[in-house]
Amino acid sequence: MTTFIGIDGGGTKTSAVVANERGTILGEATAGPSNPNGSDMERIGDVFRSVKRQLTPYVGHWKHAVVFAGIAGVSHRDVHDALRRCLQNVFSDVQKLTLDHDGMNALASVTYGEPGVIQIAGTGSLTFGVGKQGTRCRIGGWGYLLGDEGSGFDLGRRALIQVMKAYDGRGRPTVLTDLALKKWGLESPEDVIPYVYRHDVRRILASFTYELFQAAENDDTVARSVIEEAAEELALSILTALESLDLLDEPVPVGLIGGAFQPLLIRALEKKLSGTAVHPSRLLRPQVKPVVGALAWAYKSAGMDPKLLLGK
Ligand code: BGC
Repeated sequence: MTTFIGIDGGGTKTSAVVANERGTILGEATAGPSNPNGSDMERIGDVFRSVKRQLTPYVGHWKHAVVFAGIAGVSHRDVHDALRRCLQNVFSDVQKLTLDHDGMNALASVTYGEPGVIQIAGTGSLTFGVGKQGTRCRIGGWGYLLGDEGSGFDLGRRALIQVMKAYDGRGRPTVLTDLALKKWGLESPEDVIPYVYRHDVRRILASFTYELFQAAENDDTVARSVIEEAAEELALSILTALESLDLLDEPVPVGLIGGAFQPLLIRALEKKLSGTAVHPSRLLRPQVKPVVGALAWAYKSAGMDPKLLLGK
């Protein structure tokens, strides 16, 4: 019997699921990160080997397996090629193997392969969509240094910039200062600098979104304006993607995926989009995890209808 495998690779972890021809999920696997922008190919190879080991008891014969891997950070052709070789090495014996980026998983977790746009805002961010003729559009997601607007990293970075500005006297006082010092057990905003640079900067800054939302809920105006700025970026990316796919006036969904999408950010985004064709009813949260979105593409790559996963 053919088995279908979806792999969702990110900067923090890699998840995988295996399912049968009827869309029943038989087993799952979790391993370390596989975003090639934050890890080397040798380590990523180990991650895929671990995924394969964990799934083997459910797969039966690998030669009947159809695999779809959507991995963060694979946009550039060279990176894509290197990662494909790495995957092929590990999954050399499968019936079919497809590699794409993680935006595909996220999109399918909302649309099951139908046209639409998704906005990812986890540690990183990305806007991705597929149009009616299968055309694709990708906006942002250029990593934490050159892109990722509206992501957890971006929100945390903007919030900490406000802490430093308040310390300098260039910005308004904010409870974010006390929250940052308390979070990391520091004495002065100056201590924030070595703390941030000595740690995994992406993870540390993204983790500060928790305090940012807490401050905004308590009506801190600085925190609220940070969320507004991020929402503005997200609205711009979503509208640009919809326009370029000719989907702005179509009733297709816009999926919002990732831990940064707390109620306050969603509300700020709805406000930024008001007066456009993107009515709040078009903004959908996924019903299933992105890894199930990857599984949907595995079915589609074998000519099957991914909707058999609906409600699973
Ligand atoms: C990566 C993208 C990824 C996005 C969302 C960004 O940091 O560069 O490839 O799609 O995060 O996970």
